[in-house]
Amino acid sequence: MNQTMLDFIKQNAPCYIYDKSMITERCRVLRNAMPEALFLYSVKTNPFLPVIKTVAAEGFGADAASSGEVFKALEAGIPSENIYYSSPGKTLEDIDKIFGKCVIIADSLSELETLSDYAAAKGETCSAGIRINPLFTMDGEAPSPGKFGIDEELLTPESLDFPNIKVTGIHVHLKSQILDAATLCRYYENCFDLGQRINAIPGVCIEFINFGSGIGTVYDKACEEPLDFNRIALTVKKLAKQNETTLRGKLIFETGRFLVCNAGTYYTKIADKKVSRGRTYLIVENGLNGFLRPAMAQVLKRNTGSYLEFGQEPLYTSPGQCSFSLPERPEDGENEIVDIAGNLCTSLDVMAEGITLPIAKTGDIVEVTNAGSYGLTLSPAMFSSHRPPKEFLL
Ligand SMILES: *Cc1c(COP(=O)(O)O)cnc(C)c1O
Repeated sequence: MNQTMLDFIKQNAPCYIYDKSMITERCRVLRNAMPEALFLYSVKTNPFLPVIKTVAAEGFGADAASSGEVFKALEAGIPSENIYYSSPGKTLEDIDKIFGKCVIIADSLSELETLSDYAAAKGETCSAGIRINPLFTMDGEAPSPGKFGIDEELLTPESLDFPNIKVTGIHVHLKSQILDAATLCRYYENCFDLGQRINAIPGVCIEFINFGSGIGTVYDKACEEPLDFNRIALTVKKLAKQNETTLRGKLIFETGRFLVCNAGTYYTKIADKKVSRGRTYLIVENGLNGFLRPAMAQVLKRNTGSYLEFGQEPLYTSPGQCSFSLPERPEDGENEIVDIAGNLCTSLDVMAEGITLPIAKTGDIVEVTNAGSYGLTLSPAMFSSHRPPKEFLL
């Protein structure tokens, strides 16, 4: 790291720094692999406005998970027709705020009814997508009940017959962080077939299939292989061809972490260093309240004996999900084994245990990788009234 950058970080830590060129490059990887598709950036991944603007400039639309995110997407310059609002439990107030400003994806039959009544009161007819809890799954296990979407088997001409709603699209999202192309391709084929089946329901005319996300990113280069986009490209091309002679709908893919996870780094500062009964602690500013995920991985390990391979989405808690380093200290100097703990008054606030680092001093910067997705946005920044980390896109 050069001195200018280090000075900047010293002045601003705790902070997140996002690498604009890497985000742009990731957008292009997806666009090149699947030129037939419309991509949506999942705003909840990282809602920092300059980040949304960066992906918007690459032609990405938005996957908004709240009415607030619809407005963030609009603020970033994304046109209404490329903003898809999908979440469970939209309130009438949400609907009132965003009506006409995005494509609404209804999450339940009762929500379709609410929407229909709302449109009727305005004297309008409204198009809407539906999120579906399908009979297929990502890994081939049995379908399960879930809080997302409408069970596929409940979709009939009668159940979808609302006077002021036209169903024009489907949305499925089952799982994140898939790195096996064959799994993802089978899932895409299943979604496409589902779109055909729903389109055959009288009264429905499918104009878009939203395949959700699933596109994984590499957290740990030592044991993960990047997704094979050549393989994905072949399947999507085949589906696009089928689509041309059948539905002629938009093929939409969502993505969050693939664009921003590796492009983000969290920097914090060592506020104190102490030894307790032979164990060395680096106490850093804004530990879990600045970046939650590493601490969650430690909590899981302490309570279950191991890191869970996949935490609860979108927390990804595999070993190696981020790495720690000291940019000011030479890597070939003397090392020590330390725990990195935050400055909160809770024992939960431990970011790393028993890791080997160069010998550190109070005031040193600690660098944490893979912090671009579900970083600050998923961290309890309000806790204990600490100053929240700053964010920069450079
Ligand atoms: C969170 C979410 C995503 C983004 O998932 P990533 O793994 O970050 O790509 C996409 N679609 C839906 C519906 C989501 O809830």
